[in-house]
Amino acid sequence: TPALSSIDDVISLIRPSVRNEHAYVVGAPSHCEVKLNQNESPFDLPADLKEELAEAFTKIEANRYPDEQPTKLRNALAERDGVDPEGIIVGNGSNELTYTFGTAFIDPGTPVVMPRPMFSLYEKVARICGADLTPVAPSEDLSFDAGAIEKAVVETDAVMTVLTTPNNPTGLAMPMEEIEQIVSAANGVVVVDEAYVEFNPVGSATHLLEKYPNVVILRTLSKGMGLAGVRLGYMIARPELAHEVMKSRLPFMVDRFSEQIALSLLDREDLLAERVGLMKQATQKLIAALEEMPGVDVVPSDANFCIFRTDRDADALQADLADAGVLVRNMSGYPELPGYLRVSAGTEAENKAFLTALERSLRGAD
Ligand code: PMP
Repeated sequence: TPALSSIDDVISLIRPSVRNEHAYVVGAPSHCEVKLNQNESPFDLPADLKEELAEAFTKIEANRYPDEQPTKLRNALAERDGVDPEGIIVGNGSNELTYTFGTAFIDPGTPVVMPRPMFSLYEKVARICGADLTPVAPSEDLSFDAGAIEKAVVETDAVMTVLTTPNNPTGLAMPMEEIEQIVSAANGVVVVDEAYVEFNPVGSATHLLEKYPNVVILRTLSKGMGLAGVRLGYMIARPELAHEVMKSRLPFMVDRFSEQIALSLLDREDLLAERVGLMKQATQKLIAALEEMPGVDVVPSDANFCIFRTDRDADALQADLADAGVLVRNMSGYPELPGYLRVSAGTEAENKAFLTALERSLRGAD
């Protein structure tokens, strides 16, 4: 007989910090036509660009490893953002880079500060790495409480602090002075996740890199650039820091095909700008419509989505919307957001379908 015969015994070998987690699953019903649950862009790559890419793909050698880092893409991103390419690490979505940071900075017991409510992956990575995590409650309007974050950062001597701006799931951006206040007080690294930077009227925090060595910016091509299905994200730091964090990254995180797609898209500046403009407009229109709706309480947003709540139970409302073919995200899992749903801005037709379904559901419940 084998020394280990039961699968449960094998499973028990997995570290408890992993076993106690849930796998990241969006868990969306598949029958919905109108998909507004993941803060994606409603715009796919245009057909002519796909044709151009199909042609470019014929020249890509799939049997050869890509560069350890996609050099051309790194240079293109650096030029676009006005930063040193040596300070950039490109990853398989910015999600992957959160693990890269976790491994680089967090030992069991390392003090880490994270405001709430925030993109849940960060706390998960912290827990898996065994961080000593200090969560910080939001202000009454759900924005990050900069004073409380600063206090927690100083009191715990945090090695890592994460700020997301605009934040997911609230959509609220941090004023630049508050980001700088925390960065300058911190004795550790401050990760500023700018996944939704294209929509943010406050702009990017990259200029802080010149003054402060402890800033790390995280970006993605999944949202404003509409490449969620391709998986590309990147971090920007001082080159010396990026050089060290490189030691914990996986080799060949970015494949040759993804690099080509991003390069071709980045060439279409006008298209990108036009689409971001449309998404911004659609979001503000959506928020204005929700504000007008009786019984709906909506949070303003600097991103391409917003959260709202009604008198109805969030599960029931989500189910009603799904029955009408509209997929939104239920935020009730966050203790700070009971009853809240999150909706991404889609095309005009999609937003209309959502608003109609919501109106019907609320009216039906009266
Ligand atoms: N950061 C934030 C704040 C996000 O909301 C998301 C997407 N849900 C990500 C990062 C992940 O981006 P990516 O697709 O690049 O992994």
